Order: sequence, then C-alpha cells, then structure tokens
Amino acid sequence: MASSSKLNAKIPEGTLENKWTKYRSTVHLVNPANKRSLEVLVVGTGLAGASAAASLAEMGYKVKVFCFQDSPRRAHSIAAQGGINAAKNYQNDGDSVYRLFYDTIKGGDYRAREANVHRLAEVSGAIIDQCVAQGVPFAREYGGTLSNRSFGGTQVQRTFYAAGQTGQQLLLGAYSALQRQVGMGAVKLCARHEMLDVVVIDGKARGIIARDLITGKLERHFGHAVVLATGGYGNVFFLSTNAMGSNVTAAWKAHKKGAFFGNPCFTQIHPTCIPVSGDHQSKLTLMSESLRNDGRIWVPKKAGDTRKPNEIPEEERDYYLERRYPAFGNLVPRDVASRAAKERCDAGFGVGASKLAVYLDFSANMMRYGTIEASKQSIQNPSKEKIRELGLAVVKEKYGNLFDMYKQITGEDPYEVPMRIYPAVHYTMGGLWVDYNLMTTVEGMYALGEANFSDHGANRLGASALMQGLADGYFVLPYTIGDYLSEEIRTKAISTDHEAFVKAEAEVQERLTKMLNIKGTKSVDYFHKALGKIMWDKCGMARNAEGLKSAITEIRKIREEFWKDVRVTGAADEFNPELEKAGRVADFIELGELMCMDALNRNESCGGHFREEFQTEEGEALRDDENYSYVAAWEMKEVGNWELHKEELKYENIKIAARSYK
Ligand SMILES: Cc1cc2nc3c(=O)[nH]c(=O)nc-3n(C[C@H](O)[C@H](O)[C@H](O)COP(=O)(O)OP(=O)(O)OC[C@H]3O[C@@H](n4cnc5c(N)ncnc54)[C@H](O)[C@@H]3O)c2cc1C
Repeated sequence: MASSSKLNAKIPEGTLENKWTKYRSTVHLVNPANKRSLEVLVVGTGLAGASAAASLAEMGYKVKVFCFQDSPRRAHSIAAQGGINAAKNYQNDGDSVYRLFYDTIKGGDYRAREANVHRLAEVSGAIIDQCVAQGVPFAREYGGTLSNRSFGGTQVQRTFYAAGQTGQQLLLGAYSALQRQVGMGAVKLCARHEMLDVVVIDGKARGIIARDLITGKLERHFGHAVVLATGGYGNVFFLSTNAMGSNVTAAWKAHKKGAFFGNPCFTQIHPTCIPVSGDHQSKLTLMSESLRNDGRIWVPKKAGDTRKPNEIPEEERDYYLERRYPAFGNLVPRDVASRAAKERCDAGFGVGASKLAVYLDFSANMMRYGTIEASKQSIQNPSKEKIRELGLAVVKEKYGNLFDMYKQITGEDPYEVPMRIYPAVHYTMGGLWVDYNLMTTVEGMYALGEANFSDHGANRLGASALMQGLADGYFVLPYTIGDYLSEEIRTKAISTDHEAFVKAEAEVQERLTKMLNIKGTKSVDYFHKALGKIMWDKCGMARNAEGLKSAITEIRKIREEFWKDVRVTGAADEFNPELEKAGRVADFIELGELMCMDALNRNESCGGHFREEFQTEEGEALRDDENYSYVAAWEMKEVGNWELHKEELKYENIKIAARSYK
C-alpha cells in the first residue's frame, strides 16, 4: 500500500537513532534579528501550548497566546494526576530510549509512526531536567533522587510524579515560563478568547478569528504561523473524564479549512474511573492509573454475588487481570484492562448497585507496606492492626488526594472498602494529522499535544500524554517551526483588513447569529447528551458495523434537528456561555459522524478501537496488518462528506507481532 500523494510525513532520512539528531543539526535556522519580526499565534495554554509559547518567545519570536479560560493555569492539563514518563533509567531496571520507544509502539498496537515515537523517547529525559530546573516538585526518595512508579504496558518504573497532581505542578512550571515572557513583553496573552476560525491566505495559515468571551466581540489576529495546542475531544461522548470545557472546535475549524483529521475513531477508555451514578451527571472522575501499582482489581467468582466486598473470602475472588495476563497483571495497558472489566460485567460478575463496576482493592498492599514499615521501625511481632495502620500511612502518602476525592464523590472510605471502578472515556489518540514537523496539511498551521494524532497509535500508554505535550512544546516545535519560518522572513505582516480576514470574520458572525435565531425548543445539552449516548453505545468500548451505520444515520438526524430546534439564550455581543457551548456541540455533532465513519472503515480491532467482528477466540483485539497498517487521514469536502487518505506505516526497527501481555 502506498501513501496518498496528499500526505507527506517528511520523515528524515537516516537510521532511526540518528534522524532527530541529524535533523536538528541541519534544519534551516532563523537568525535572531529576523525572529523579532516573525509573529506566531499559539492557541492553547495547556502543557503543549504554554511550553511552546514560552519556548518560542524565549527564542525571540513575537508570540500571541490564546485560551478560553480566565487563566492559562486553568487549562485541562491541570487535571492530570498520575505522572509523566521518561527513559531516565533511574531505577536501573532496564529502561532505555529504545525500550520506551518499543513500549509506546507496542502499546499503540502498531499504529503509530516509528520516527515520531523514537524522537519522543529521545527527548523524554530532557523534559524531566527542564521541569526540575523550573522547580517542579517531583516526588523524591529519601536520599533526594527522583522517585518513579509504574504505569500500564511497561515492566519498568519510568513514571515521574508529584503526588496525584503531576499535571498541576508541570503546568505551574510551564505557566511560570510563559508568564516570564508575558512580563518581558515577548508574549501577548489573550485569555478568555475562543478561536472560531483559521484564516488561510494562498494556502498558508495566516491568522485566526477569535471571540472575546467577555464582550462577545470578534477579533482578527495575524500570524506568520498558527499553532493549535487545543487539547482532545473526549467530550464528544458528553460523559468523560475531561474538563467540562474541553472541545474540538479549534481543531474542527482547522479541519474545515483543509487540515486532515487523523484516526478520529481512536479513543481511549480508561479502566479506573468512578462509575456513572445516574442521569444527572455531566462529568466523570478518573481514579489515576497510578493506583494500579498497589490496587488489585477483582470481581466475585460467583455471578450476581450480593455480599459486601469485605465479606467475600480471598478464594472466592477473581483477580481476573492477574489470571489472564500474568506477566503484566494489574498493569496491562488501558484498552486491555477496560475490555476485561466490560467482559466481566457483561458476563454478570459486576458489583455495586448498577453491576457496572469492579473492585480496586488496596488491602493486600497495605499489609505488605505495613510489614515493611514495622520491620524498618524494628517493631517486634506487630499486631495485624498495627501493620494495617503503618501500611495505611504509606498508601495515604502515595495516593492520599485520590482517596479523599473518591470518598467525597462516593461517600465510601476506600481505606476501609475497595473502590468501585468502571471504564470511562478519557483521551483521544486521534486528532489533526501532522507530519514529522508537527505541521498539518495546511502550510504554516501546526498541531501539538492531544490535538494532534501523532504518537500514540491506537492506544496511549499512561503518563505519555504529558510527555508528548511537553516534548512537542519545549523540544520539537522550537526546531521544526524554524524550518518553515526561515522561508517567511520576507513576508511582511499581513493587514487584518485583508479580504480573507474580513470573509472569515463574517462567516463566524453569520454562524453565531444563525444559532441564536433558531429560538427552538431544545437545550444545547439535550443535543449533547443525545449525541453522547449514541457515541458511547455504538462507537465506544465495543463497535460493530451495524451499530456504526445506524449511529451515522442517527447523528445526521441530530445535526438536522439541532439546526432547526436548538434554543440558545442571550445575545452574541455579551458574555454568553450558552452560545459558546452551542458552537462546540455543533462541531461535536459533525465530528461524531466522522468518528463513526472512521470506525466503520477500519475493519480490524486495534488498541482502543475494538470491532466486535474482529477478535480472537479469547476476546483479544485482532489486527489486520496487511490491510490496515495505515493512518486514516480524512479530508473534509463538505459537512457529512469526507475523502479518506492513507499514510502507510512502515516498521523497519520493530518486528510487528500480535500484542501480548501474558
Ligand atoms: C483526569 C485526567 C487525568 C490525566 N492524567 C494524566 C497523567 O497522569 N499523565 C498523562 O500523561 N496524561 C494524563 N492525562 C491526559 C493529559 O492530561 C492531557 O492529554 C494533556 O494534559 C493535554 O494537554 P494539551 O496541552 O494538549 O491540552 P489542554 O491541557 O487540554 O489545553 C488545551 C488548551 O487549549 C485552549 N483551547 C481549546 N480550544 C480553544 C479555542 N477554540 N480557542 C482558544 N483556546 C482554546 C484551552 O483554553 C487550553 O488552554 C489525564 C487526563 C485527564 C482527563
């Protein structure tokens, strides 16, 4: 299979290990004086956007940065709990750049690009050094060295963390770097601004249209390049672990202006979330994967067992992950753990009132830690209670904030009874297609972080999103953007009176007015919930051709109904969260259709994309490497009409094999 002529991944020549080093040494540069007259717009201030904006400004470019929250610090990245991977091998347990590369490709079920993933593994160590230098308070061992824990899909300990608040601490680091540049006048910060379109002139991205969310005023902004670091689109499912504001609008507007969308159906369902408790919910809560270091997952061996968990004796518990996957046990990757939980619940072994939950139990490891502590403290013949007390303190220190959060939400004390967990939508591996330079199919438009499709294939390994976002922003884009901007030094700033800006702004205005004028009977949330239900039922943890076809028909109906009957209150020229939400849901509806088309096109199972028709006898995902070893990059012709382009994936350094965690 040859790649489509419209896709050029621009992977540098040379051996895998040397590609990035050689690229960095030979890429075109922009001299410092020229950097001062080149303007870059960065949309997004999460880990990817804040790190990119700070780095570009530090290098001398003129930067404007946008976010819809009131402060860059409130980007969704702040929610990240568990940690960030890096191949430092501090544990001396056999880690290396190659092993991180290998784990990531395998974890993604052989659907990611080798060169990008290897580069990610190469720069991972530098991210930790950068963040430590910024003062990020990573957890440390008694002697002062940085501490590590394990995440799924690996057999080494390479995850750096700051209690259960790693994203927050990393974002404070990136934010500090960004604010330093704001203070020096190198970055202009436009908080409370929502990008509603990209301006493309002669095939190149030259600016954006943004709405000031306080006044409602539309603004035009010019840039020699536009960088989108606008996060993931898991909220297309309505219920997800994402921040309520996370949305696809920026990426979707770019898609409509010519940026191809890569692997849109690749969604990550995280195995350890607090189960849905009723129809009133608008948000789901993650219990970090780090908990699987010490929490053991089980269900009763007897279907429909109604006993309380602590009343079920050890021999009547089925630690099904340890049983099915002895080599990785509770630390199998997320897609595998999620499917296994669904399988047990579907077979009637689920627990809790809804029966859509499994237990995550810390009691055994609490006792193990307690025994170690008693020994450390030279306590002779400690009682069971004493051991438990000592172990509980260790668990509290490691995961205290997550346990508190669980208790606040469920009313149950996880130190006393096992947590109940169930899979939920968490992350989107799909996103804007980018080449090795992180440039989309629109020249001068880049996509970073969760907004691009780049490094995680069909399933992201835990703690690799933070790594990728910061790699893109601190260490990749600052090099690759120079290659493009070195050709732009003669391009003078284009006036925002240019007809392309005028037209783009008018189109945005027209869409806002249209939504407000419908004055229908159904709320925006009504449509979002209806879409989310279809997506979860038919394009969620398990998919099949029949379901996907009917989902496409149903989503088209929802789209029609939305544009006839949505009720959006308020006006366009004022602070109007309902209008913001309406625009985002309208985009989610269009995206939902594409996700189902993509899932229908891919007649195989891989990673988070599980097509029921394609599974092994043991219920594992069954890939079809001969026909589907490609990135599906979709070009929008018009709403509801796309053309598929394929980027062939070549594995020259890894032998592709059936993924096994046994
Ligand atoms: C609960 C939770 C826990 C997680 N824990 C981990 C973890 O432990 N380790 C890990 O590696 N990953 C984790 N992840 C995943 C990780 O947090 C995200 O993938 C990552 O933070 C995304 O960063 P980002 O910079 O790409 O986007 P975001 O942090 O989502 O930032 C998006 C930015 O874009 C802006 N934006 C978006 N649209 C527009 C628009 N139209 N106009 C203007 N601005 C816009 C927003 O204002 C925001 O500033 C977790 C995810 C969740 C949900």
